[in-house]
Amino acid sequence: MVSVSELISARTRVCGLLGYPVEHSFSPAMHNAAFRHLGLDFVYLAFPVHPERLEEAVAGVRALHLAGVNVTVPHKEKVIPYLDELTDGARLAGAVNTIVHREGHLVGHNTDGAGFVRFLTADAGFNPAGKRVLVLGAGGAARAVAVHLALAGVEQVLVANRTPSRAAELAALIHDQTPARACAVPWPADVLPGEVDLIVQTTPLGMHPRVDACPDFPFHRLRPEQVVVDLVYNPPRTLFMERAARSGARVYNGLGMLLYQGVLAFELWTGERAPVEVMRRALPF
Ligand code: NAP
Repeated sequence: MVSVSELISARTRVCGLLGYPVEHSFSPAMHNAAFRHLGLDFVYLAFPVHPERLEEAVAGVRALHLAGVNVTVPHKEKVIPYLDELTDGARLAGAVNTIVHREGHLVGHNTDGAGFVRFLTADAGFNPAGKRVLVLGAGGAARAVAVHLALAGVEQVLVANRTPSRAAELAALIHDQTPARACAVPWPADVLPGEVDLIVQTTPLGMHPRVDACPDFPFHRLRPEQVVVDLVYNPPRTLFMERAARSGARVYNGLGMLLYQGVLAFELWTGERAPVEVMRRALPF
């Protein structure tokens, strides 16, 4: 067994996570497994950053010459003013989960949304170009996913949300600022499943410990050729997935999004192709 002191050198590049709290994160296990697998002199650490110290922490990324960091709750939106540049996806999503540091210049990316698209193409065999999508929910995850689907070429995004004004806001953003068409539809989404190719469940309903919760949805109208993704991954099979699977639809949980946001961040920081299966095995489910 190689000890940590044998792996760390004076040249070791540091990546990490800025969040509060961070103790629950799977990212250190996922990235460190990938660094070790490729023999890269990198290490990934989790930094608990109190909201009042976010600006200092971002200054520290520059000052300490970190290769880059992930950003998680509650900092994904608040970090934006401290960065030098944003990708289009991060700007439209209004949130950053990955920062890349080059010579004092910090670029904010949203690999949550971009990772969701990579998951769809790599693992679900679903090419978003020209497709129609129904998004359930209009919070941060919904916005990241919807924006990146729109930038990846989906034809139409329908948004259903418990609070209709938030669905209308997200639909307007997509419609006005991306090439995709978009509109808000009623919650619960009772008329539409037959007309869309992909359904993405982005609310926390069904997440541990309230595993009996499930969005109200016309499951009987799903068709076998449709793809259904629940962004929840704990439990790995939610009640929503269970009910959708009975229709024969192809059903996935949120682990793919979690994995590929890390894969994209890894590739941005290191310039290397990520060892996807190594990273997948480092996840707990
Ligand atoms: P958020 O910004 O708080 O948004 C929550 C959304 O869920 C809102 O649209 C909210 O509707 C809706 N909602 C909440 N409780 C509801 C209820 N009882 N009935 C109906 N709708 C309800 O949260 P988020 O950051 O988007 O995260 C949402 C989920 O995505 C969480 O389960 C999170 O774990 C998951 N997620 C997964 C990944 C991944 O990598 N797989 C990444 C990010 C997030 P209102 O607008 O009406 O409040």
